[in-house]
Amino acid sequence: MSYKIPGLSSIILLFIALGIADYQLFTVSLPLGIVYFICIPLSFLITLYNYCRKCPHVASKTCRHVLFGWIISKLFKPIQPSKYTVKEAFVSLIPLVFIVIFPQYWLVQSIGLFIAFWVLMLAAVVIVRIGVCIGCKNVNCLFCPNKDNCNA
Ligand code: SF4
Ligand code: SF4
Repeated sequence: MSYKIPGLSSIILLFIALGIADYQLFTVSLPLGIVYFICIPLSFLITLYNYCRKCPHVASKTCRHVLFGWIISKLFKPIQPSKYTVKEAFVSLIPLVFIVIFPQYWLVQSIGLFIAFWVLMLAAVVIVRIGVCIGCKNVNCLFCPNKDNCNA
């Protein structure tokens, strides 16, 4: 199966989960919902800028997650692939950890939404690991399973 279907479906699940979190924040407080709504694209942009620009899939227009590589190629120039520095890894991961952890305090106040959020998140992660990472050429990726045996 093409990586595009799992690549895109995992992103859709991810954004539905984030949408559920934002819905809960909006029901608690309008400003909180707005702040989180702005933080989501900002966080992704910071991560994509620091991480995806160094990925060989951007230049070859074959991003395993489909959408992210396309966005980066429209906004920035790709740079030579190389190992991620500690600073790049840190700056890339913190925004994503933030948008997942930040809404938990309010999300847990609605147990149904809390469960839906985590089921969708975990489903997205499983789909990525099974259908997307296998065959990925970004062997510098912190989560790459192909480091020792790249067959992409
Ligand atoms: S494969 Fe991963 S690191 Fe490479 S461009 Fe796509 S999202 Fe970014
Ligand atoms: S190894 Fe997986 S998480 Fe890393 S860039 Fe490739 S597809 Fe994305």
